[in-house]
Amino acid sequence: MRKAIIQEVRAYVIDDSEMGADYHNQRGGHWIIDLPVANPMSVYKDFKAKRTSWGINALGTVVVQVALDDGTVGIGCSIGGEPACYIIEKHLSRFVEGQDPRNVELIWDQMWRATLPYGRKGLTIHAISAVDLAIWDCLGKLRGEPIYALIGGKTKERLPVYATTSRPDIAKEFGFQGAKIPCRYGPGDGIEGLKRNIAVVAEAREQVGPDFPLRLDCYMSLTVSYAIELARALAPYHLHWIEECLPPDDFDGYAALKAAVGHFCLVSTGEHEYTRYGFRELIARKCADILQPDINHVGGVTGLWKVAQMAAVSGISMAPHACEGPIGGLAGLHVDAAMPNFVVQEICGQIQPNAADKVWQEWLGFPAMRMVDGRFPLSQKPGLGFELSEASLAKYPFGGTRPMARVFHEDGSVAEW
Ligand SMILES: [Mg+2]
Repeated sequence: MRKAIIQEVRAYVIDDSEMGADYHNQRGGHWIIDLPVANPMSVYKDFKAKRTSWGINALGTVVVQVALDDGTVGIGCSIGGEPACYIIEKHLSRFVEGQDPRNVELIWDQMWRATLPYGRKGLTIHAISAVDLAIWDCLGKLRGEPIYALIGGKTKERLPVYATTSRPDIAKEFGFQGAKIPCRYGPGDGIEGLKRNIAVVAEAREQVGPDFPLRLDCYMSLTVSYAIELARALAPYHLHWIEECLPPDDFDGYAALKAAVGHFCLVSTGEHEYTRYGFRELIARKCADILQPDINHVGGVTGLWKVAQMAAVSGISMAPHACEGPIGGLAGLHVDAAMPNFVVQEICGQIQPNAADKVWQEWLGFPAMRMVDGRFPLSQKPGLGFELSEASLAKYPFGGTRPMARVFHEDGSVAEW
């Protein structure tokens, strides 16, 4: 392998109007922001109608470039926007610049330890993850290998993929390996909401027939008793799993839920859990049958690979979250490929009739990722396996200028650095 040193780490925000890493940053006309979707804020009527009303997309995107002294540039992408830029440029960069990119564990550990006073979960980990992804992209490019070949090789030739959508019937038509629909109503909607939730699942089952896998995503919105009642009521419709019913910190609640319904409906969670330390709790306390880490919430490739190993020790399957953002999402496919305990990958899309291509091409103009028989092929290219297209470069503030984290002062002035 060529030897190279990391010369610079650069963090960027992108234009507010672009979706970037934030799939909720839609301009409208998309179920993910237009449909009622039960969520932790559903208990407040002022913020109930749409998740964008409480700022699900408030942070926006951070894009990271790691540049080596031989000219190699790796890219990473995560949620985090300007605050993540600040953390990366003002704090994390000191552990990255001047390092040998092969020392990825050392870099990760230093970023983790140095941010313990304010980090551990959330935004800080989004920032660490974006840097980690960019380093792994560099490593793959230096070695001329796709990332999965660097972390354990491939355990399968293609990756089964399912769609999170409001239209499971179209997901079936497109050939996905099942669908997942959003839970529309929560405990605040009372018995009427419960009945409507049941009716939505019943209708979906009717549309797709008895054998197409169906899942229900509850996005941290329920209580233990509601989740148990809902899962029991849905037993006739044979859900494959019921997802993220409770707030992430309710480990005891997840354990109780799994004990109550796990024999007829698998319990999944982990999308909003952070790093191997959070997953240690989920695993030790028997909270879930299936874990769904997001590569940007667990510390990038380095973090996701560790969580997969930990889950494997306890015989737990992995169905990673459709990462908030295509670069992380595509990086996640490399880790999926290397996991013996991987079962299926989520993608989230509009899934409209006659719009199959849009599902996997809508973001950055990547070369098409085409599903064959409900499975993604593995990239053979070095690193993550793609570069941003010229069109994307025009849309994003890459290319020579220093990154922009903007600080807004009370007098209306804006400082850029
Ligand atoms: Mg989910």
